[in-house]
Amino acid sequence: MTKNIPNILLIYTGGTIGMIKDPETGALRAFDFDNLLIRIPELKLLDCNIETISFEEPIDSSNMEPKYWVDIAEVIEKQYDTFDGFVILHGSDTMSYTSSVLSFMLEHLAKPVIFTGSQLPIGDLRTDAKENLITSIQIAALQYYNKPVIKEVCLYFEYKLYRANRTTKINAEHFEAFASLNYPDLAESGVHLKVNNDHLFKPNPRKSLIVHKALDANVAIVKLFPGISETLLQTIFSTPNLKGVVLETYGAGNCTTKDWFVTLLKETINKGVHIVNVTQCSGGSVIMGQYETSEKLKRIGVISGKDITTEAAISKLMYLLAQNIAPNLFKIIYETSLRGEMA
Ligand code: ASP
Repeated sequence: MTKNIPNILLIYTGGTIGMIKDPETGALRAFDFDNLLIRIPELKLLDCNIETISFEEPIDSSNMEPKYWVDIAEVIEKQYDTFDGFVILHGSDTMSYTSSVLSFMLEHLAKPVIFTGSQLPIGDLRTDAKENLITSIQIAALQYYNKPVIKEVCLYFEYKLYRANRTTKINAEHFEAFASLNYPDLAESGVHLKVNNDHLFKPNPRKSLIVHKALDANVAIVKLFPGISETLLQTIFSTPNLKGVVLETYGAGNCTTKDWFVTLLKETINKGVHIVNVTQCSGGSVIMGQYETSEKLKRIGVISGKDITTEAAISKLMYLLAQNIAPNLFKIIYETSLRGEMA
């Protein structure tokens, strides 16, 4: 490797980008990463050194689990000083979860970590994989006075660079598969690559990277719907070892004012379970107390997720629950933006 052009590490975890059709079943499955590079000779033309590393067994991201998140974080930790930027190829299905959780695991990150993938395999004639991959590498290699321009975990898809922990997968077939409804795009690729400098995350330059590998998956996501029963919620809330719940409420954080509901939530919080209020809407924010239907939640100690996505909310919960935070501080810390994930 040379030091006068950026060194980029490409980490392949799996996903459609590197899949082929099984000749017998016709279903897409992950294949050997080496083939991926053979299929994109253009990579050799980029103005950076690219090294690659692959999951031993690439996965469809629907099989993603916290142990793989630790694997990704460990690769970055080990290679942090050697490389100027990291591009992670990942299936789009759970990309917002993985990239959100990585944003919490990598505290004081000061280099680009860009997640990307594609809707069509790299070998498909109409594939979106090439543009996504090539531009992601260019973004990871962007430097200003020998320092990386991007210093956070991002997601690049279909000409747009987003803050990863602000994204949601919104479409299962469009090339524009992701959206960041509560935060502006960080960059847009057209004839020029336009970086939205004002919205980039600015880490404290005096701090060194800390990689947090502990995550607590004793959590749940509960989406309210009109008619949800007490029995159902009681069953969920009495799950052994449950430590945190992301409650997807209506609109600006509203829910039924029925007594049984509020009492059940209160009892659950008193048992030490943290409940985070996020909105079911794709955009906008929870404002507890704006309506009578959320005022009670505020009073019993429900945490406001503000404008966080569900993906970032559950990731933040898993991350903070493993940090041994004193119960009286948990709500305050959760309601603080740690990696630009909430307003
Ligand atoms: N099922 C695939 C995955 O998430 C879809 C994709 O790669 O876009 O791994």
